[in-house]
Amino acid sequence: MRALVILLVAAPAFAQERKDPRVEKIVARVDAGRMHDTVAKLVSFGTRLTISDPNDPVRGIGAARKWLSGQFAAIAGQRGARAKTFEDRFVAPVGRRIPAPVEIVNTGVIIPGTDPARSKQAVVMTGHYDSMPSDVLDPKADAPGAVDDGSGTSMTLELANAFAAESPAITLYFVAVAGEEQGLVGSQHLAERLKAEGVDVLAMVSVDIAGNSEGQDGVRDSTTGRVFSEGGPDVENEAQKKLRLALGSDNDSPAREWARYVQRFGELYSSGLRLRVMLRRDRIARGSDHMSFAHEGFTAIRLSEAKENYHRQHQTPRVENGVQYGDDLAHFDAPYAARLCRALAGAIGSLGFAPAPPKYPVLASSNTPDGKLKWTLPEDPRVADVILYRRPADQVRWEKAFSLGKVSEVTMPSVNVDDWFFAVATADTAGDESLPQPPGLPQR
Ligand SMILES: [Zn+2]
Repeated sequence: MRALVILLVAAPAFAQERKDPRVEKIVARVDAGRMHDTVAKLVSFGTRLTISDPNDPVRGIGAARKWLSGQFAAIAGQRGARAKTFEDRFVAPVGRRIPAPVEIVNTGVIIPGTDPARSKQAVVMTGHYDSMPSDVLDPKADAPGAVDDGSGTSMTLELANAFAAESPAITLYFVAVAGEEQGLVGSQHLAERLKAEGVDVLAMVSVDIAGNSEGQDGVRDSTTGRVFSEGGPDVENEAQKKLRLALGSDNDSPAREWARYVQRFGELYSSGLRLRVMLRRDRIARGSDHMSFAHEGFTAIRLSEAKENYHRQHQTPRVENGVQYGDDLAHFDAPYAARLCRALAGAIGSLGFAPAPPKYPVLASSNTPDGKLKWTLPEDPRVADVILYRRPADQVRWEKAFSLGKVSEVTMPSVNVDDWFFAVATADTAGDESLPQPPGLPQR
């Protein structure tokens, strides 16, 4: 394989700003008006608490999931659709927030991957359709859940529809899950099930609380999103921990690389949106369904709004001392949520179409003035290019990406690897990229 020597100072930032027309078309299908209507419908069920009445035809979680499953079935039933309906149904046992065994149903679609060599690889996106009032054990109180998490749920439908007729290389799951407010029990079951089925979840994202644009302090922001990811992985063996400490790669965990990927391709495909890579697993001492997947060893992140209003989360609607509480439809900013959804459509589209990533990347130099990286190209005929990412060792965001061509090593004169972080990705001719793979150390 051809080797390449590059002068890093000479290359422009992000040489690869090409957009794949296929992905642009997917992104363009995201419709703010339809997302508003979806959230309005979800709110109309009064409460979607996981332990609310499953049999009432108009109110409660049972009515909500029946409607949702119908929507997913309609998407899968469209002419030309490749999408297939997906259901994960089980009975959750008694727990801290579950007073009696309750049936939980995760519902959505799968878009089957087309590359037989990667048939078990998948991207999973979830939003949780359950909601909660002030008392998480009160099945009667109103819990509109417009933003938490009608916003994420509306995106599961929107993305299912946008990707329904597409032919990605790897399988895509768009799933509305329940049981989030009851302790992430729905997503935990889903993650365990996929693991048991041998599904290799390359990347998972939970969209949770992603549609309110006015913070509790009155500050408005409808052009920024936050992407949360863990640093040191939830699941790590001794050898992996040793390598992480040796490389100082706390900020280059698989989840963090996926977060940066969503930032890069999200901003590329959703014009006017800025995504912040937040250097923590979630908001402080809080959680969402990505944690269930991280717990099973999968690469998982959370997408959320920029400015939260806690008066509108986990609150029974009411006015108290002049303050209005409750997660109502009026504060769901559909154009903002659509902007976030387009970002995800762009990132999932690019990753879904991308070739297999480089294998076994290693730092082939140390204690030398020149930097050298090596890797093995995957046996994927769609690999057209290798992209080298770099950033200074005191920075979070990739500062440059270099198109190297179809090579399996690179030498960088006068680049001390101690002062930089690197990762390599493969790209196809359309510019879709694999997840960047940070280099490890060579076997000694
Ligand atoms: Zn939530």
